[in-house]
Amino acid sequence: MNLPFQVDLTDKVAVVTGAGGVLCSDFARALAQCGAKVALLDLNLDAAETVAQEIRAAGYQAIAVRANCLEKESLEEAKKVVDFTLGPCDILINGAGGNNPRATTADEYFDPESLGGEKTNFFNMDDKGFKFVLDLNVTAAFLTTQVFALDMAKLGYGNIINISSMNAFRPLTKIPAYSAAKAGVSNFTQWLAVHFAGSGIRVNAIAPGFFVTNQNRALLYDDEGKPTARTEKILRGTPMGRFGESDELLGALLFFLNDKASSFISGVVLPVDGGFAAYSGV
Ligand code: NAD
Repeated sequence: MNLPFQVDLTDKVAVVTGAGGVLCSDFARALAQCGAKVALLDLNLDAAETVAQEIRAAGYQAIAVRANCLEKESLEEAKKVVDFTLGPCDILINGAGGNNPRATTADEYFDPESLGGEKTNFFNMDDKGFKFVLDLNVTAAFLTTQVFALDMAKLGYGNIINISSMNAFRPLTKIPAYSAAKAGVSNFTQWLAVHFAGSGIRVNAIAPGFFVTNQNRALLYDDEGKPTARTEKILRGTPMGRFGESDELLGALLFFLNDKASSFISGVVLPVDGGFAAYSGV
């Protein structure tokens, strides 16, 4: 993969959660290419293993480990494997996250006629689905950081990157739990940055704009592959007029991981969004 620039991460151990997915698999590839020993954690071990094998085949170091970021025990088991195989974690990318259809309204604006119908509206939304999305984004980042930042705090060095979203700045229609959750991720990033400021640990977040991945493809393209009305709206709201490519997140990632370039930067949420967050629509 072509990196925007190289950062020397030789001998650093990097843990990437959600590493079997579209965006975080690229993060894992980039880290390995910069010399880090990378642990790809994912609920879907096959997906993580496929990426890890590809990284190893290219001559870099990577292992895949199954982990459920919603369960501390599972993370602690994964940490044992990482510690034994690679060593204590220096870099943590909290990438596991996403939305869920159970916490998605069918309509953008409330329609009284939807009451009593089959479609998900605000009033019949499954509260367990709502809580699941909050947990998947916020609690997962909390638990994963608890488990993997402990050695960082003891050793006095660490670099943590959370993945926020555009909906953290202003909520997106239809996805109230995901919007609240990513606002929580941004806020938690700032909290961690302050809490660990004296411990040699920097904590920042990347807020991707719109990238087509497994979890949003169905919202963005119909069964025939044609752009949905939501896609048209997104592209109208993105001054650069296109979706991002996952490798366009790597510059932000590598900047935060470069201790020389960003030594005094912690608690920042950096949008990588083609101008979406800056655009008022007029
Ligand atoms: P993706 O669906 O391609 O990947 C997500 C990965 O997380 C999957 O491999 C999945 O198996 C894994 N996962 C799910 N639950 C898990 C759990 N409990 N424990 C461990 N792993 C788990 O999604 P993506 O778009 O690459 O998303 C990566 C991150 O970027 C997410 O936090 C997402 O919310 C965020 N994000 C994505 C976009 C976008 O446009 N795609 C925009 C903003 C933010």
